[in-house]
Amino acid sequence: MRRRRDAKIVATLGPASNSKEVIGKLFDAGIDVFRLNFSHGTHDDHAVVHQFIRDIEKERGRPIGILADLQGPKLRVGKFANGEEDLVVGQSFRLDMDNEPGTAERVQLPHPEIFAAVEDGAKLLVNDGKIRLRVVSHGDDFAITTVEVAGTISNNKGVNVPDLYLPISPLTEKDRIDLDYALGLGVDWVAMSFVQRPEDMVELRELVGPDTAIMAKMEKPSAINHLSDIITLSDGIMVARGDLGVEMPQEKVPVVQKKLLRRARAAGKPVIVATQMLESMIHSPVPTRAESSDVATAAYDGADAVMLSAETAAGEFPVEAATAMDRILIEVERDPYYRQVITAASPTPGDTAADAITSSLSHIAGVLPLAAVFTYTESGFSAFRAARERPEAPLIGCTPHRRTARRLALVWGVHAVLSDEMSNVDEMVSNAINITMQEGFGELGMIIAITAGMPFGRTGTTNMLRLTRLKDLNGNANTHDDIPL
Ligand code: PGA
Ligand code: MN
Repeated sequence: MRRRRDAKIVATLGPASNSKEVIGKLFDAGIDVFRLNFSHGTHDDHAVVHQFIRDIEKERGRPIGILADLQGPKLRVGKFANGEEDLVVGQSFRLDMDNEPGTAERVQLPHPEIFAAVEDGAKLLVNDGKIRLRVVSHGDDFAITTVEVAGTISNNKGVNVPDLYLPISPLTEKDRIDLDYALGLGVDWVAMSFVQRPEDMVELRELVGPDTAIMAKMEKPSAINHLSDIITLSDGIMVARGDLGVEMPQEKVPVVQKKLLRRARAAGKPVIVATQMLESMIHSPVPTRAESSDVATAAYDGADAVMLSAETAAGEFPVEAATAMDRILIEVERDPYYRQVITAASPTPGDTAADAITSSLSHIAGVLPLAAVFTYTESGFSAFRAARERPEAPLIGCTPHRRTARRLALVWGVHAVLSDEMSNVDEMVSNAINITMQEGFGELGMIIAITAGMPFGRTGTTNMLRLTRLKDLNGNANTHDDIPL
């Protein structure tokens, strides 16, 4: 089974999709990576869908990525005596640490870090930014605000403080427990919400260890300000447009999105564009034209993956949403202009042997038509570097490690396959020929390029490039008298 496109699709699971049947249909419709959102659901819920995904992976015989998304320090107000209150423009509204039920004059905000960091004039946004409060005075455990944009405030609504840098770890107690649980289940990517500083990713890496990839969700202005270091310390990033559009004026989001896509690609780290991509499909079987265009734009701008959130987690048409995305991406990638812009945006190769080899492949492809680029990869690093080049020929990432294959499910263009550890060059060449033909990437007589690192079994050693023709090995795995290329 191979996908007919290079960009990947991530789907968030939830009540609309937590059965094995729907997860199977989502995979068949094109989902490459499933997101377990730890902001919702119990640990048991996540364990059940995790097992469904692994069962489907086994049945379909293709590696599937699982991304655990940690909620992070989502700040929330307390509860109201009447459940909700209507605020009016110009009124005064107090936030404090008192856990008495809220009224139209005040409510609890149980986050002392906010009062410690707040300044007069700062704005506080409530309920996805729908309500805007401006701080007029504050003390150690309270802030008096004026309502600038009014609305209904209700129990436990989220609060964003874009103007403030909060000296807190984005990993709450809940996140640590969730992370432990997710790592126990076995996940391929861990995403951290509301990253503010590079140190946050250092902290996450320490907790996660070397075997699981980590992703920074870019949803705070302070993270955008530390972009380079955060990308360096992460294995991938997410353009988390939902909170980003609350934390900064939303007209800036498209520009920031394009910048994040450029910078992630230059670094060779996968990047997901997320939130509201096909939002109307929560209730409609077809997307709006603007939504189709948004998905297409993310692809033209070089996204590794696009993501579905509520569309697949809580919507009425989860499978239709996956199908719609698949079709849009296929259509974009058929456009000769897509190839042109992707090639034009190629970053200069870095100073690694993997870059020297993978970047030379585009020259080779200009001289000899390549059926596929076959990359042997241990940690996934050389497949990441090859994907960064966005080669025109299909990219096969072959690894002996299941976790590497699953991690690669998120990466642009990589068709990951598992095979045994190779012990010599002859075996490596025959194995590549067999897999390329079995997986439907080429027929007898076509040429493939193989990249690998010797000695085998070590990470970061890519140092070999071999061209060969696909041929019938007649069961004799160690003969490959090449037909001249
Ligand atoms: P969320 O993150 O869905 O966990 O909030 C994505 C976003 O903010 O866009
Ligand atoms: Mn978010």
